[in-house]
Amino acid sequence: MKKLKMLYEGKAKKVYQTEKENLYIVDYKDDATAFNGLKKGSILGKGVINNKMTNIVFQYLAENGIENHFVEELSDRETLVKKVQIVPLEVIVRNIAAGSFSKKFGVEEGTPLKNPVLEFSYKNDALGDPMINEMQITAIGIATEKELETISKSALKINALMQKFFLEKEIILVDFKIEFGKYGDKIILADEVSPDTCRLWDANTKEKLDKDRFRRDLGGVEEAYQEVWRRIKE
Ligand code: ADP
Ligand code: UDP
Repeated sequence: MKKLKMLYEGKAKKVYQTEKENLYIVDYKDDATAFNGLKKGSILGKGVINNKMTNIVFQYLAENGIENHFVEELSDRETLVKKVQIVPLEVIVRNIAAGSFSKKFGVEEGTPLKNPVLEFSYKNDALGDPMINEMQITAIGIATEKELETISKSALKINALMQKFFLEKEIILVDFKIEFGKYGDKIILADEVSPDTCRLWDANTKEKLDKDRFRRDLGGVEEAYQEVWRRIKE
């Protein structure tokens, strides 16, 4: 499958049309941004790791009943995916307090949460991806009540599956962001699952193995991505 017209260049990926009307190619870049694009940089080799890691996780999820956009890995950085109409929501699931949750509620980072927390942000760069609740989502028409129920149930199931997947690699899944898209009359998982979109801590040392190393200038950014990949590829 060949890349035709580039349809979209995002912060971390490019999306291309293909000869097939219902398929896209995503091409993962090394570019990294944080704080709504305010901090910019590059993480050498990130595109390759995020591409391959997403594909392994998506295949694991598919085997466990989570339908998603993965079709075929085409190269180190490129994957063929089902074309979906993205529901403009960042669906966030948290198991341990960190990041904006810790800041907002004054809960120390690393505090285990008594139940998984589901949150939504409205995917809108101009507005800075504001947090949004379910009634606001249905009121504006971002998703219907039924669609939102599908998304919520699926996100919590994905959380349970991914917690198990990562723990087998001695990694704690602290929190993550996923996106869903409309595919015909279904809603399926799309976009990516990577150290860009998950907080991943070493289960023994609690060392951060994700994009927080870039966001917070902790150093060892490339090494952290490589470490996650080393554990997953086995
Ligand atoms: P951003 O838009 O946040 O900068 P990326 O750089 O990752 O993010 O760009 C990839 C874009 O492709 C995102 O807007 C994402 O919602 C979209 N996308 C991901 N998977 C699919 C898909 N299967 N079909 C259509 N669009 C997709
Ligand atoms: N996240 C993401 N993209 C975003 C915002 C958040 O992938 O635009 C992920 C982030 O990596 C973390 C989770 O969602 O795993 C929760 O992020 P949080 O709300 O704590 O925001 P942050 O502290 O990253 O600003």
